[in-house]
Amino acid sequence: MRQYIKRIDISITLLVMAFFLAVGAMILHISSLQSDLLRASAINTAKLFSQTLTEVRTLYTSDVVQPAKAYGMNITHNYLHEKNAIPLPATFSMRLGELMGKHAGEAHSRLYSTYPFPWRSQKGGLNDDFKKRAWDELSRDQSKPYKQFFETEQGLILRYAVADVMRPACVNCHNSHPQSPYRNWKEGDLRGVLEINLPLEGLNQQTSDQVAKIRLVYSLVGLAIVVGFVLAIHRVKLAKKSLSLRSEELEEANQQLKDISELDALTQIANRRCYDTRLGLELAAAKRSGSPLSIVLFDIDYFKLYNDGYGHERGDEALIQVVKVANSCIMRETDLLARYGGEEFVALLPFTDSDGATIIAEIIRSKIEAAAIPHEYARHHEFITVSIGITTRSGVDLDTGDLFKYADSALYKAKANGRNRCETENSE
Ligand code: GH3
Ligand code: MG
Ligand code: MG
Repeated sequence: MRQYIKRIDISITLLVMAFFLAVGAMILHISSLQSDLLRASAINTAKLFSQTLTEVRTLYTSDVVQPAKAYGMNITHNYLHEKNAIPLPATFSMRLGELMGKHAGEAHSRLYSTYPFPWRSQKGGLNDDFKKRAWDELSRDQSKPYKQFFETEQGLILRYAVADVMRPACVNCHNSHPQSPYRNWKEGDLRGVLEINLPLEGLNQQTSDQVAKIRLVYSLVGLAIVVGFVLAIHRVKLAKKSLSLRSEELEEANQQLKDISELDALTQIANRRCYDTRLGLELAAAKRSGSPLSIVLFDIDYFKLYNDGYGHERGDEALIQVVKVANSCIMRETDLLARYGGEEFVALLPFTDSDGATIIAEIIRSKIEAAAIPHEYARHHEFITVSIGITTRSGVDLDTGDLFKYADSALYKAKANGRNRCETENSE
C-alpha cells in the first residue's frame, strides 16, 4: 500500500514536470509561429507586389507605349521635361512601384541588370552581393524567385527578386533604342531583375492580430489543461488520502489480528501460542549466550471446587483477579506471563537463575494468598492460593519439552506437599 502511495507521489511529480515542459513548449511554439507567420506574410506581399508591377508594365508596353510610338510620341525616361513624351516602361513601373510601396509597408522596388541604361548606370547595375547572387540564380532558373531576409538597424527586411524577362513587345525597342547598352536581345532573355525590398515592421501588426487569435486559443486550451490538471491532482489527493486511511485501517486490523492470535481472551495476557513462540526464541538465545533461563509454572488450588461452589462466572472473575496479581509481580520487560491452559499459568524468565526464579515465584504465591480471594470450598485454606513449580537451566542442552517437564514435576510435588507452596526441580 505504501509503495502504491509512493508511486502516486512519483506520478504527480512527473505530471507536474510534464505540464511545465508543455507550457514551455507552447510558449516557444507561439514565438516561432509568430516569426514564421511574419515571414510567410512578407513573402506573399512581395510576390503580389512583383506580379502586379510585371503585369502593369506588360500592359503599359503593349497598350500604351506601342500605340503612342505609332503616333510619333517620345518614349523616354526624361518624359517630364520633354514634349510629347511618355515614360519608358521600366521608368513607368519604377514610378508605380514607388506609389504602391506606400501602401505595402514602405516597400521599394528596384530594377537592375548587367546592362543598365546610361542614366541608371549607378543604381541599375549589380552593385551588391545580393543583386549578384539574384542575377546568377535567376539566370539559372527564371521561374524561381530568389529571396533572403536581412537583419538591419530598421529591423528585419525581405529582399525578393524575380526575373524580368524580355517580352516580344520589348525586344524591338531595346535593340533599337539609341542609348541601349546591348542590342542583341532575344525574346525570353533575362533582361533584368525586379527586386521588392520589404521591411517586415509594417506587416507586424497584421501577423500580431493573427498571433493574438492563436494566443487566445492556446490560452483557452492552456486554461482547460490547468483546470483539468488541478482537478486531477485534487482527485488523486483524495484517492491518496482514502488509500492512506485504508492503509492505517489495515495496519490497525493487522495489529488487532496479531493481538487476538497472541492474547488470551479472558485474562488479556499472552496465550499458549505466544508463550511457545517466545520460549523457542529465548531458548535459542540462552543456548547462544549460555545465560540461565527459568520458568515458573503455577496452578490454582482446588479450582474445580471453586467453580462447583461459586459457579463458572465467579470462576472467570477469580481467574482475572489472580492474573492481575501475578502480573504485578513481573518486573522485567523481557519476562512474560502467559496462560498455559485452564487455571494454569507460566512465567518465562530469561537471564534468571534458580535463586531469582524462586524469589519471583514466592512473590507470586504470597501476593495471591495476600489478595485474600475467598475460597470456602478449598480443603487447605480459606482463600485462593496457587502451587508453583520452578525450574532453571543454563540453556546448553535443553529443548522445550524438557524444561516444562521439570517445572510440571516440581508443581506436582508442590501439590503433593500440601499446595500453596513453591517447589524446584532442576534434575531427575
Ligand atoms: P488442583 O488443586 O489439584 O489443581 O485441583 P483443581 O481442582 O484446581 O484441578 P483440576 O485440574 O481438577 O480442575 C481445574 C479446573 O479449572 C477445572 C475447570 O472447571 C477450571 N477451569 C479451567 N479453565 C477455566 C476457565 O476458563 N474458567 C473457569 N471458570 N474455570 C476454569
Ligand atoms: Mg488446579
Ligand atoms: Mg490444573
